Amino acid sequence: VSDPPADRIDLVETAVYRIPLEEPESDGTLTWDHTTVVTVRVGAADHTGLGLTYGPAACRSVVEDVLADVVRGRRASDVVGTWTAMVRAVRNAGRPGVVSMAIAAVDIALWDLKAKLAGVALATLLGRARDEVPVYGSGGFTSLDDRALVAQLDGWVGDGIPRVKMKIGTGWGADPERDLERIAMVREAIGPHVELFVDANGGYTRKTAIRVGRAVRPMGVTWFEEPVSSDDLDGLREVRAAVDADVAAGEYGYDVAYFQHLCAAHAVDVVQADVTRCAGITEWLRIAAIAAGRNLEISAHCAPAMHAHLAAAVPNLRHVEYFADHVRADRLLLDGVLEPIAGALVPDLARPGHGVSVSTSADRYRCA
Ligand SMILES: [Mg+2]
Repeated sequence: VSDPPADRIDLVETAVYRIPLEEPESDGTLTWDHTTVVTVRVGAADHTGLGLTYGPAACRSVVEDVLADVVRGRRASDVVGTWTAMVRAVRNAGRPGVVSMAIAAVDIALWDLKAKLAGVALATLLGRARDEVPVYGSGGFTSLDDRALVAQLDGWVGDGIPRVKMKIGTGWGADPERDLERIAMVREAIGPHVELFVDANGGYTRKTAIRVGRAVRPMGVTWFEEPVSSDDLDGLREVRAAVDADVAAGEYGYDVAYFQHLCAAHAVDVVQADVTRCAGITEWLRIAAIAAGRNLEISAHCAPAMHAHLAAAVPNLRHVEYFADHVRADRLLLDGVLEPIAGALVPDLARPGHGVSVSTSADRYRCA
């Protein structure tokens, strides 16, 4: 009888935190009033790794009911093997959505643990391609009044972030004139040199998206995210052909096959992928490779604390989304979160793993 390997995973632990917003927020197609964070801790050889997703509390049940038994007892060094075992185990549960988010939280925790066991930063373990990752300030909700909208975007510019994104597509695309007025107002406020991005969250029809995309050209809008539903690949391609701005989508992509279809349809200029949704670091790296195969860049969707080290490890990175709600939640729940310096996150190579842990003061938000 041989001894179990020294790096055998003996801990899989979950928690759910619910952070109410000061007031409800809306984009073009959804309204919400809180941020939920599901965390996973995995442990081996007296070290622990942390992963998380901003998915619903149901992600915790998937980890507890379906994934934990698959992960426990495996070697911490064999992250890709454990990831594969998790993906195979969810065949009948269905991979996209909550299940992929649950796998994401576990996979991120596994990579963090592996880096800590090796005593190196996560970016070092993955193989660094760059010292720092550019971010763009993201929020600008359709629910904000003019003053709050300008204050938020101009705040990021004041903090040295030269790229900002606002939401458009108000009320499922019902009021494009209001959207255009708000874009013009923001451009006036931030001046001509800041990159200005817009995100319709799939709220427009094809023709409305093309009209808006052409109207914002003189306003210097260089990024048009989900002008139409990201399920409408023909529509994305049509809008791409008709406007100057880069068309981006991919935040609801949960596996490589989705991104293969997105890219094969020539639907986007930039691929967006979210490590806390797309089954984690293991899959995000493969998605980046699919984008690279099409000579496309990848932009990290939301979750800046979980993307900083990962984004530093891909050559074809555009930027990381510095999303207001997640920045706020991370500050309340986590220790070790990086602040942007001159518009970029700089992974700390002296700290093992991704450098982020759950704060002792997070308990007041814990709900499961
Ligand atoms: Mg978006």
